[in-house]
Amino acid sequence: MAIVLWAVVFATLGVVSAREKACTYPSSCWPSEANWKSLNSTLNGALVRAFPVASPCHAPVNQDACDIAKKNWTNEFWRAQQPGGYFDLNWENGDNLCDINGNASLPCTQGLVPYYVAQVNNVDDVKKAVKFAHDHKISTRVKGASHDFLGRSSGNGTFGISTIKLKGIEFVDSFTLPGAPPGTTPESVVHIAAGEHWIHVNRAADSHGVIVVGGTSYSVGAAGGWVLGGGHSSLSPQYGLGVDNVVQFEIVTPDGQFRVANKYQEKDLFWALRGGGPGFGVVTKVTYKTHPPIKALTVMIVNATYTNTSFTGFLRKYLALQPTLSAHNVSGYSYPTANGIVAQLFAHNSANLTALNSTLKPMFDFAQSETNNGRPARIETQGGVLPSYLSLFDDDIATVDEGAGKYSIMGSRLAPASAFQGDKVQKLADFVAKSPFNMLMTLVAGNKVSQVAGDATAIHPSWRKAIHHLILMAGWENNQPIPARNLIRSALTNTTQEFAKFFPGFGSYVNEGDINEPKWQETFWGSNYPRLKSIKKRYDPQGIFTCFHCVGYED
Ligand SMILES: Cc1cc2nc3c(=O)[nH]c(=O)nc-3n(C[C@H](O)[C@H](O)[C@H](O)COP(=O)(O)OP(=O)(O)OC[C@H]3O[C@@H](n4cnc5c(N)ncnc54)[C@H](O)[C@@H]3O)c2cc1C
Repeated sequence: MAIVLWAVVFATLGVVSAREKACTYPSSCWPSEANWKSLNSTLNGALVRAFPVASPCHAPVNQDACDIAKKNWTNEFWRAQQPGGYFDLNWENGDNLCDINGNASLPCTQGLVPYYVAQVNNVDDVKKAVKFAHDHKISTRVKGASHDFLGRSSGNGTFGISTIKLKGIEFVDSFTLPGAPPGTTPESVVHIAAGEHWIHVNRAADSHGVIVVGGTSYSVGAAGGWVLGGGHSSLSPQYGLGVDNVVQFEIVTPDGQFRVANKYQEKDLFWALRGGGPGFGVVTKVTYKTHPPIKALTVMIVNATYTNTSFTGFLRKYLALQPTLSAHNVSGYSYPTANGIVAQLFAHNSANLTALNSTLKPMFDFAQSETNNGRPARIETQGGVLPSYLSLFDDDIATVDEGAGKYSIMGSRLAPASAFQGDKVQKLADFVAKSPFNMLMTLVAGNKVSQVAGDATAIHPSWRKAIHHLILMAGWENNQPIPARNLIRSALTNTTQEFAKFFPGFGSYVNEGDINEPKWQETFWGSNYPRLKSIKKRYDPQGIFTCFHCVGYED
């Protein structure tokens, strides 16, 4: 069974007012062409001048390259491999048009694509590229699988370091962390190089007879932005977030030094990398704990449809069910819309579909009573028991559409169980019903995620008290004029701020938040921010890896 993932309207924000810390093209501080040429030769030709992926379809047209771009326009794996390719057009083109089907006689502009990109092939290349950035104090962006929703892997006039060619997935059944005291019990781990996607890790893990807590996506990077921001998974209620499963990072820090950060050495760096987001260097490898394979996985698809009159009633029932689902260790993704609710619910290590179905009894009862009273409401469920975690994913990744090649934005909040209880539920249901933006409810926290202290990792401490991460989504078409895009952006920010009032003290997941959050430090990191900022200053005093609304941006 294939999971339908972020194929909804997932698009990212547009242009943000970049205030780069370090040197950008075309300032006079930008290195000379001779300097770049010399870097290219030390990298054995891995340096490229990068452009948006639709650029070959614009003057001067390169028809062969244009045909390839057209064929792969929505292919997220292909996009990740292109020096100027991004999952979301927002962060590739910005508001500069470079439409794949646009007027070919008009040249394409640079958009937000870095000017030069080093497509590094090994750790040595990474060290050379970072040393170059350090010595010339140039604004640098790391680009892994290119899935970022906040534009933190691109930037106009910057230097890009693409890690997508760093491949390798190695399982070690008995691994002891460097620096561990004698007698430390070894653990079962997997080392993943920075350029790997989750689907390839999931397949390798299945062959090795283990599971790894990873994103519910085929193509998100397994050792990049996902874990640096926190990393949620349908497995998280049982095994924790990505940051709770990572045991070590290998990284080249902004001074060009290769370091190994774990709980015994480079401890501050290890803490910051678990949720602080980008800005601490180029991660080359991530080591995660592995877990025994799940014995069974119950999956249920819920489809609830209703008339307008029963809408908020049905929604209220569904929202009120969330604490019960969480208490049953259920995870999943729900999309309430004006016409109904579609949800995918998962019970890992369970083979009891009847039990999962019975948690929805209040909704079945409500549908019956509404229908009896002349307001037709329907709820259907279908599901089954799968033999493995991997069977959630399609065998043929060529058929997968995760929504790449579009424009989208989002705003979000973490939500505790109490937000779905008492008289708060009706108000929340009313808000969702009236919201101009679709919502994606991700039931990926609670249980194991809540058993970790708020300051044990750098993510917002409210993750540890939440059960849900709720995302408001918006987007636009290629031909939408900039003022219209700006209206959507500001409406989303305003609606997100209204939405936040339902969850006082709760933050937003930095990987799936609004880049224009007014109090971004507090919203993305809460009380962990001051420590993060001081670590950032220590490792990147020049701010060469600083991006918009990333740690240290305000300095
Ligand atoms: C289709 C889709 C599905 C998703 N599903 C999930 C999900 O199930 N769970 C979840 O938690 N999130 C999910 N996300 C959000 C995801 O976590 C973020 O988009 C994340 O930023 C992606 O990281 P990336 O490395 O793939 O992207 P990139 O754009 O390459 O990088 C994202 C950020 O990390 C930095 N970075 C990347 N690699 C490195 C590196 N090697 N060293 C240092 N910095 C690096 C970049 O500079 C950038 O700031 C999903 C996103 C998409 C588009």
